[in-house]
Amino acid sequence: MTEPANEPTTVRERALPCGRTLADLVAVAADGPGADPVLVAHAADCPHCGAELAALRAQWDLVRAAAAEPVHTPDGLVSRVLDSVRGVRGRGGEFQLDQVGGALLVAERVVVLLARSAAADLLAGHGGGHLRSVRAAGDTVDIGLAVRFGTPIQPLAELVRAHVSAWLREHLGTSVPAVTVDVVDVIYPV
Ligand SMILES: [Zn+2]
Repeated sequence: MTEPANEPTTVRERALPCGRTLADLVAVAADGPGADPVLVAHAADCPHCGAELAALRAQWDLVRAAAAEPVHTPDGLVSRVLDSVRGVRGRGGEFQLDQVGGALLVAERVVVLLARSAAADLLAGHGGGHLRSVRAAGDTVDIGLAVRFGTPIQPLAELVRAHVSAWLREHLGTSVPAVTVDVVDVIYPV
């Protein structure tokens, strides 16, 4: 006697000669003996269920082993991603930070606030100068610095520039505006 065509039976619903279904055995193989202790006891003596369960457990062991395998970042992936980061464009009140898979728009005032905070923090600890201005100009962030008389200007300017750039990268990602530092004033001792 053949099965009616309008009553399809999936593999999992297929009953074994003993009446148990493959779906029940899959549950035991996947979730452990606690999923159905009665079936486990039955399978210990049933040749049909015993053979199916052994095969299913072997398959699930492979699945578990694959799931436990740590996923390693392919060699060179990070540098390829960084290479594809294209750059920064000013967009009238916003910086467009091009990134993999799209662009991030950040309001200029947000970038200016971040840069100001970073520069002020550094200068407070360094003591060699004061922050006079921070403004967004096209694709860059310009920092105006007043340097204390006698302080080597170039090293301080570079320190500020590097610190602000690193701070922006930390908050905005790898693609950030260029930072320029202008020494606009000298503070003389009183
Ligand atoms: Zn059975």
